Amino acid sequence: MNPFRYEHVSDASSAVAMLAQTPTAAFLGGGTNLVDLMKLGVAQPDLLVDIARLPYNRIELLPDGGVRIGATVRNSDLAADRTIRTRYPLLTQALLSGASGQLRNLATTGGNLVQRTRCVYFQDVSKPCNKREMGSGCPAREGYHRNLAILGASEACIATHPSDMAVAMVALDAIVRVFGPNGERTIPLVNFHRLPADEPQRDTVLEHGELITTIDLPPLSFATHSHYRKVRDRASYAFALVSVAAALDVTNGIVRDARIAFGGVAPVPWRALQAEHTLRGAPATEETFRRAADAELAAAQTLPGNAFKVLLARNVLVRTLLDLTREENS
Ligand SMILES: Cc1cc2nc3c(=O)[nH]c(=O)nc-3n(C[C@H](O)[C@H](O)[C@H](O)COP(=O)(O)OP(=O)(O)OC[C@H]3O[C@@H](n4cnc5c(N)ncnc54)[C@H](O)[C@@H]3O)c2cc1C
Ligand code: SF4
Repeated sequence: MNPFRYEHVSDASSAVAMLAQTPTAAFLGGGTNLVDLMKLGVAQPDLLVDIARLPYNRIELLPDGGVRIGATVRNSDLAADRTIRTRYPLLTQALLSGASGQLRNLATTGGNLVQRTRCVYFQDVSKPCNKREMGSGCPAREGYHRNLAILGASEACIATHPSDMAVAMVALDAIVRVFGPNGERTIPLVNFHRLPADEPQRDTVLEHGELITTIDLPPLSFATHSHYRKVRDRASYAFALVSVAAALDVTNGIVRDARIAFGGVAPVPWRALQAEHTLRGAPATEETFRRAADAELAAAQTLPGNAFKVLLARNVLVRTLLDLTREENS
């Protein structure tokens, strides 16, 4: 690991100023991703600015009925929060499906959103990788790509975004608040992560020095009726091959509204707008759910090793919607 300087700060302005002065500095949340990447030589910051003591460790109710989550709230605390468990059960389920208890005790909400891909070539500095160094190539196309993207990828990169939490939050229309050298701004989470195109090095729209301060979840009455389902190679401690976050509002057998996102299939947490569009106003039947999945997955582009994900994603979505419909009727 390269030598680096460590500083801790107690106010956001100091944190942002320190990063602004050092182009190779990084914020340190729980360190569960960044420190691993430093040990592997993938990340080489000269300065780590520890933000754990910033005053963003609270979960607050908003006047409009939404919830504001501080960026340093630990994943375990967010999953266990009573408001989150009762109003947004898919978010608790997504968090609890990720990593391990020990990791969730350290991992922060902000760090979880900015964690980097688990593509094996990205993590191995002896291999070329366009995400580490654009122009060096993408060995995953010809090599191991079983866990990589079928939607939204590019010639340059087919990596998948790894976070479970972000998939649930994208389905919930979360808003990310950031504070940086040019002041504050808000970014809908659905626009926060970038598709790779020909610039796969940049995972998000964050500029250097911009600090995530809070994430807002708008009120969504039918989010109480929601589920996160994750399919992976092991029952725990594994990233998603495919996951689905879904909230469903069914009245008299008709889908009034739906929020759906996929994980494990794209370089970003994938909001399934085509599927949602197909569902709204249609009968809540297996046939409708299959049509919704097909509408979303029609754009899928596969390689030999990951083509199985299309059928898997279809089945996981249909099963999740059927389960939610049965619960609604029972
Ligand atoms: C073995 C293992 C298994 C895992 N399994 C899963 C899984 O199944 N599902 C899953 O979703 N995740 C999984 N994870 C990933 C884990 O969830 C992330 O490592 C964690 O959420 C990152 O949060 P952190 O606070 O530790 O981030 P850090 O490692 O501290 O930071 C990650 C990145 O975010 C930046 N950052 C941190 N906070 C902020 C902020 N407030 N503003 C701007 N930038 C910030 C850092 O500079 C860094 O670039 C796993 C991790 C491990 C090690
Ligand atoms: S898929 Fe992306 S991250 Fe993986 S090797 Fe190719 S360029 Fe690198």
